[in-house]
Order: sequence, then structure tokens, then C-alpha cells
Amino acid sequence: MNKRTLLTWVICALITGWFVHPVMAKKGKGGGKPAPVPVLSQAEAADLLFMREEEKLARDVYITLYAEWGNRVFDNISQSEQKHTDAVLGLINKYGLDDPALEFGYFADSELQELFNTLVAAGLQSQLDALMVGALIEEVDMEDIVAAMERTDEADILTVYGNLLAGSENHLSAFVRNIEAITGEAYVAQWISQEEVDAILGR
Ligand code: MN
Ligand code: MN
Repeated sequence: MNKRTLLTWVICALITGWFVHPVMAKKGKGGGKPAPVPVLSQAEAADLLFMREEEKLARDVYITLYAEWGNRVFDNISQSEQKHTDAVLGLINKYGLDDPALEFGYFADSELQELFNTLVAAGLQSQLDALMVGALIEEVDMEDIVAAMERTDEADILTVYGNLLAGSENHLSAFVRNIEAITGEAYVAQWISQEEVDAILGR
């Protein structure tokens, strides 16, 4: 095959679609229309954007505190928070919203930025302070997640929030175990009620 014949062949192949892999060719044709994505209320959309950054805040704080104190509990839980913030990003993409997440340690929501700065400063004081910061974050998260669950009826959003909530309960328990190992005293709730905390801890 000389150069010219080859070129002719390539052009013919392109025109007739020989280069399109059968699987790719099938895509787009038929296969049924995907179900339309529901339009979220303003509150539902705002909650998703906030939750994306609130889970990222937990991740960024725990990574920072792990670097300072080397306690594995921060490393383990920061990886869980990565999954949580990723799960919320999945919803943000599905519903066609703009991802607010910025680089490490930075937040589009100014209140979350202030909270991050305050919590990191507190957590750098001592390892006990760091663990108390962790427990506080989880208590705040639980309150915010429950509130967001009450503002949506979308099954996929409720599933993700349910996973976030279960994660926060586990994380609070882990932080409390570490706190009580240091203090030798029963953990005192910092944000939600003592009754709610005790129920989560199975007390
Ligand atoms: Mn979480
Ligand atoms: Mn958590």
C-alpha cells in the first residue's frame, strides 16, 4: 500500500465509521433515555454545597491534627471524610451544581473558613484538645446532617446523608474512646445534648 492508497483508506474508514468501536457506536443510539434529574429546591441545593465543604473541613482538620500529633484516629477518620465529601460531590455533579470546594485549608463559605481556623488553632494546643476538636466536629456535623435530611425528599440525597450520619456516630465514638483514655472521666457533650451523645455511645 503506497502513501496515497493508505490515506484514501483512512479517509474512507473515517467516513464510514470503521474506526468507531462497536461499543462506542452503540452508545448514544437508543438504549433508552435516562430518567430526568429532578430540580432541587434552593434549600436542598444550598445544603449539598454546605455539606460538601463541611465534610472537607473535617478532612482538612484531621489531616492537620494527624500531622501534629500522629494519632492514627485522625488518619483513619480523615480518609472516611474524604469518602464523605466525594459522595456529596457525586450528588453536586448529578444535580448540575457548581462544586464549591477549594484547595486544602480553604473554604468558599466564610463561616466554615473561620471555623476551620479556630478549630485548628485549638487542636494544636494539646493532643487532648485535638481529640476534643474532633468530637466537637462530629457533634456539629450530626446536627447539620439531621437538619439537612429534614429539608429533602430525594432518596439518593437521603442515602448519602444517612451514610454521613452513621460515619459521624462512629467517629464520635472513636474520639470519645481516645478522650476518656486520657482523662479517665466520662465524656461531656459539647454541642448536641448529653442524652443524644449517650445514646450514640450506647450508654
Ligand atoms: Mn463525615
Ligand atoms: Mn466525621
